[in-house]
Amino acid sequence: MAKFYVVATPIGNMGDITLRAIETLKSVDLILCEDTRETKKILQKYNINTATMSYPSDDVVGKNSRQSNKFSKIFELLEEGKNLALVSDAGTPGISDPGAMLVSKIKEKFNCVRQDLTQEVQVIPIPGPSAVITALSASGLPIHEFTFLGFLPHKKGRETLFKEIAGAKRTMVFYESPHRILKTLESLVKFCSVENPKKVCIARELTKIYEEFKTGSPAEVLQYLIENPEKQRGEFTVIVS
Ligand code: SAM
Repeated sequence: MAKFYVVATPIGNMGDITLRAIETLKSVDLILCEDTRETKKILQKYNINTATMSYPSDDVVGKNSRQSNKFSKIFELLEEGKNLALVSDAGTPGISDPGAMLVSKIKEKFNCVRQDLTQEVQVIPIPGPSAVITALSASGLPIHEFTFLGFLPHKKGRETLFKEIAGAKRTMVFYESPHRILKTLESLVKFCSVENPKKVCIARELTKIYEEFKTGSPAEVLQYLIENPEKQRGEFTVIVS
């Protein structure tokens, strides 16, 4: 039975990779990457010489022949009994990146959906870092229950979501780009009412040199970023409690 490993890789600090992840990446026949150039950095660091291929980033079967050829190639390899590993640019594949679609397609094609299929593929997670869990773990905010929103929509549904965040009883966490972090904080200031005050924690550049957690009211955190423009750069995970 072919094995399809879903392998978590570092979100910044190259040391954050498990022994099992390294062994798996060394042992498989092919590594499927979001971006092969990104993945090569970690492969070089750990002397992993396995071949790589980028995987289709969208549900494009039948729309884009180059991408759909890649799906066929991946299915073919699994049918031949080859073992594959899926990695994303950072963190756990599928958590707000295109890896989820590939796992779902493979499960649909090979796993127990059709009784008549003789071929099966075992999908095996190799756990490791993810920005959402890393941010929550050191935020100091209540995390016994939380809702993860992925990336917030840019336009449609954005305002509704901020209203939902403002009225939420449990902690909400989401990913945000540096281009929109100020706008997001402005929206939190606008929608979070005095009657239902919220605490915000922005976790920036986790596991990297400039890692920083800043916690306060939405207005305080916004003010801090406005006064320190250099802190508006990098990768952000936002927690609202
Ligand atoms: N699959 C990844 C994971 O498991 O964390 C997330 C991929 S998503 C495309 C990338 C987003 O995650 C970034 O835009 C940022 O919001 C968040 N992120 C990734 N690395 C981060 C870091 N080192 N510090 C803070 N947030 C990070």
